[in-house]
Amino acid sequence: MECKKAVSCIHEYLDGLLDRSAQATLDQHLRTCANCRRLFKQLEMMEQRIRMLKHVDTPDLTDRIMNSLPAPLKSRKAINWLKRHPALTAAVIFIVVMFSSLAALWNTDDQLVISTAEFDKIQVVGNRVIVPAGETIQGDLVVENGEVVVEGRVMGNLVVIDGTYTASTANIAGRITTVNQLFDWLWYKIAGLFGTV
Ligand SMILES: [Zn+2]
Repeated sequence: MECKKAVSCIHEYLDGLLDRSAQATLDQHLRTCANCRRLFKQLEMMEQRIRMLKHVDTPDLTDRIMNSLPAPLKSRKAINWLKRHPALTAAVIFIVVMFSSLAALWNTDDQLVISTAEFDKIQVVGNRVIVPAGETIQGDLVVENGEVVVEGRVMGNLVVIDGTYTASTANIAGRITTVNQLFDWLWYKIAGLFGTV
């Protein structure tokens, strides 16, 4: 078995999709190839972390993350924050490790996610999320992987994660935050967990 084939087999194996005979061939390759063995261990560990993360990711925690809406953050700002909060740094590092597992999935997960208290007031067309003219959303609007068009008003913050928006600042009572960089995204989640910033 070639390494290239082994890598795709490893992914299938971790997804539980690899049949028994292919598994045996993969095992044989892993016994003889240190590179693939290392990759296998890394991916397996990542899977475990993700499973753990799913376990702790209660709806309550998700709400806390979503309700905490920091301003756009620069990495320097994050580093300064860590320096000012040494006691939390160890915990932050732990979470970074947890989330860096998810980071590997960052580009593959392009599902539209909308978080708002007033779902009935918005229109969703494909990946476009529209707040129609004349409608007012009380509270925050958080959209992941979408194209946000605000023609009406949002009384809270607008958060666009890995997406675009068309909105006049006059239509948004709170802040507009865009999160497109992986680091910003991690930071956003971490800051949310601690309810700071
Ligand atoms: Zn190999």
